[in-house]
Amino acid sequence: MRVVVVGGGIAGLWTSLSFRKVEVILVAPRDPSRANTFWAQGGIAAALDPHDSPLVHYEDTLKAGAHFNDKRAAMVLVHYGPMVVNKLIQMGFRFNPRPHLEGGHSFPRVWNTGDETGRRLMEFLEEKVEGRVERVEAYVRELLTEGGRVVGVRLEDGREVEADAVVLATGGYAALWRRTSNPSGSVGYGILMAARAGAYLTDLEFVQFHPTVSLTDPPVLLTEALRGAGARLVDEEGRDIINPLLPRDVVARAIHNHRRRYGPVYLDLSKVPMERFPVARRLYERYGERIPVSPAAHYSIGGVRTDVWGRTNLRGLWAVGECSATGAHGANRLASNSLLEALVFGYRVAIDIENDVSEWPTFGFMDERVIDYVEGDENLDLVRDTLEEVAGVEREERSLREGIERLEGIGGLGNLARAILEAALWREESRGVHYRKDHPEASEAFAGRLGVRFNTIR
Ligand SMILES: Cc1cc2nc3c(=O)[nH]c(=O)nc-3n(C[C@H](O)[C@H](O)[C@H](O)COP(=O)(O)OP(=O)(O)OC[C@H]3O[C@@H](n4cnc5c(N)ncnc54)[C@H](O)[C@@H]3O)c2cc1C
Repeated sequence: MRVVVVGGGIAGLWTSLSFRKVEVILVAPRDPSRANTFWAQGGIAAALDPHDSPLVHYEDTLKAGAHFNDKRAAMVLVHYGPMVVNKLIQMGFRFNPRPHLEGGHSFPRVWNTGDETGRRLMEFLEEKVEGRVERVEAYVRELLTEGGRVVGVRLEDGREVEADAVVLATGGYAALWRRTSNPSGSVGYGILMAARAGAYLTDLEFVQFHPTVSLTDPPVLLTEALRGAGARLVDEEGRDIINPLLPRDVVARAIHNHRRRYGPVYLDLSKVPMERFPVARRLYERYGERIPVSPAAHYSIGGVRTDVWGRTNLRGLWAVGECSATGAHGANRLASNSLLEALVFGYRVAIDIENDVSEWPTFGFMDERVIDYVEGDENLDLVRDTLEEVAGVEREERSLREGIERLEGIGGLGNLARAILEAALWREESRGVHYRKDHPEASEAFAGRLGVRFNTIR
């Protein structure tokens, strides 16, 4: 049996390492800094301490997710958490002895190596993969299908690689926004490929915005822990604009509105012990103690709909990591649950494929949208400006409709952007990270998920 894993972040590397019996080909560009994983600062959440419990982690996950979580997926996430993190440790990965406490967690359970956890993880996993897994350094352009089943991938240079199973681990789509904490390639190309082949997407409207990304070149994410350690959010005159310890989405909206109405917002680092934060310290040394910040698209909760084994609705196709939508995060992701999600579900995908499954899930949605797939040219600049303008931390019907009109006829990633806007338009309520100015409350009428697919079935 031959499995093709697409993507070289934590999800792709870890899944590749989790197979025991099958031939694995890992297809991804080599440069680790193109993966979101490389930039992860906080760490991996898991209830390892005997005084902690996966059930408490579960409750924290549901609370953060506004109880919109797929309960089964969230339960799997927290219960497999200690096992996969222990596996990493047994393989030789060294975390700091004490986990961090992060916003939304009721126990210190974020395992880390300081504020460069992602970089260390990438180095470690890359080394482990070396010699164990065949690597093809390339981008995948298209999924190959036969009678509705995924049977391989087509690379950028036109070469085809056949497979009995394809695992998509291509990351999220937050770099479709102009302001983002993600590397520029995190535009959801893998998600688009899957949808083009007939996969269902869901939760596309749920994009987490990080409140404090520096307005420097390049932009740098200034971790929440800085605010925990005394950083303030101030205006031009040094006056506080909001309590910096309020929840992420509340702070993000306050900064957004202050910038729109009154002017710049700064993260004031004068009271922070900078020796604890090497990433932020580099900025501090260059720009001084007041760093201009704004919210930026950070994490895509939506993606290719999967069950708790990573199976999509397409036979032969699994998805894992940020490109997938297991539903575990609900309407807002709890900090440090996404590296964990890649580890837990990557491990389960490998088990599932090696068990040679014959059952395939069908997904029920509250409602469905079929998006006309346009083959035309892609205009990524227009896509980024449009999403930034109409689908940021606050949305409303009028501007969402304008955005959809503006992107009419735009091919490639324009299709994914239209799907995101359609999803945001459909959800006439505010829930988790999705805030509609024209519908500021949650509504029972939208207590379920929207399924999105493209009309491309060939
Ligand atoms: C600044 C920052 C800080 C973060 N901090 C944390 C944290 O502390 N804790 C936490 O849990 N999460 C954190 N996150 C989120 C977390 O890093 C990501 O959700 C996670 O790393 C996603 O892993 P992934 O493997 O799914 O995707 P990625 O790491 O993005 O990897 C995707 C891979 O797929 C490749 N790829 C894409 N398209 C193709 C294609 N068509 N063909 C071949 N290859 C392709 C890419 O090149 C890349 O190698 C952070 C994110 C950012 C940006």
